[in-house]
Amino acid sequence: MSNQFCRFLSNGYSFQILNQSLVVKPCCWSSNTIHIDQYYDQKIKERAKINYWTNDCRVCQEQENGGQKSFRQSSFDIVPEVNSTAPIALDINLDMTCNAACVICGPEASTLWEKQYNKNKIFTINQQSNHESYLSTILNNVDFNNVKRVKFFGGEPLLTDTHIKILEKIPNPSQCDVWYTTNASIVPKENILNIWKKFKLIYFEASIDGIDERFDYIRWPLSWTKIEQNLLNLRAIAPGNLLFRINHTLNPFNAYYYEEIENWVEQKLDTNRLGDKTEINIHPCWGTWDLKKTPMSLREKIYKKYPDHIISKIILSHSFESYQSILNFTDQWDPIRKNNWKQTFPDIVKYFSE
Ligand code: SF4
Repeated sequence: MSNQFCRFLSNGYSFQILNQSLVVKPCCWSSNTIHIDQYYDQKIKERAKINYWTNDCRVCQEQENGGQKSFRQSSFDIVPEVNSTAPIALDINLDMTCNAACVICGPEASTLWEKQYNKNKIFTINQQSNHESYLSTILNNVDFNNVKRVKFFGGEPLLTDTHIKILEKIPNPSQCDVWYTTNASIVPKENILNIWKKFKLIYFEASIDGIDERFDYIRWPLSWTKIEQNLLNLRAIAPGNLLFRINHTLNPFNAYYYEEIENWVEQKLDTNRLGDKTEINIHPCWGTWDLKKTPMSLREKIYKKYPDHIISKIILSHSFESYQSILNFTDQWDPIRKNNWKQTFPDIVKYFSE
């Protein structure tokens, strides 16, 4: 029976590699982690019966407390009522192959970051995940018959053929939506566009949280000029069922500059080729660049610039934490990358010295 509290608890299967093991969670945000060896046993059925807030779901709880629509609430739009714990929403988060080392990411999620750590002798990492055998486990064991939504994460999912192998397993593509969290550095070739045409909708969710030099800083070493061109090319050649979304991760450096993205989308990528609107999905950053680390005086400046805007509401729902970890990062990585955050984000520099 579908879970009435959150449909992902009964029918969401978010596969990822954790500590070199394949695990499954109800969604990418949850910390309710089940080792793949327990996939067939009681644990999945127990998970499906949870009908109250637990610590595993604190992300959704915080979102709702902050007045935002949570993923839990969206689960009812994504997963219909069914009489089983069959996989309906799948996340595939196995392959960390990536051509970017974004400041807000790290070596656990990007092979380029891993190389950067090793090259600069920060410390030696060798993740060597068993990605191919984990993919086989999923391909051979998951029941794809009821899947209505599949989402690919990375790394950069368009750099490998993992996504193609999964899509080929979906028996009813016209009833299935496909989501990509992508850095937009790859324009898919014709064979992929032809596969996409068979699916209900393709959500091309480009991770863009700045434009021009601010994009280049955050999404190092990708170049905004190339990414912009890729998106415009894709708009021209993509099938009509492809919708664009901009995934904007809000951090203490880029929040003040949010309007630049909004303006760019309005002018350049307001819709797909057929007129379907591009959505901007805003969410806060965690970890080293946690939005909590936005200085209080900078917050005041942001509230004045964006009154009644979701940006201000999201920041307001975050308590304050020291921003020293961000300055440590810039001290360490700016010289290596020949970057200078003070030149890239000049309007906010003074707030980080109080
Ligand atoms: S409540 Fe939120 S975090 Fe928990 S399973 Fe549902 S969508 Fe995921």
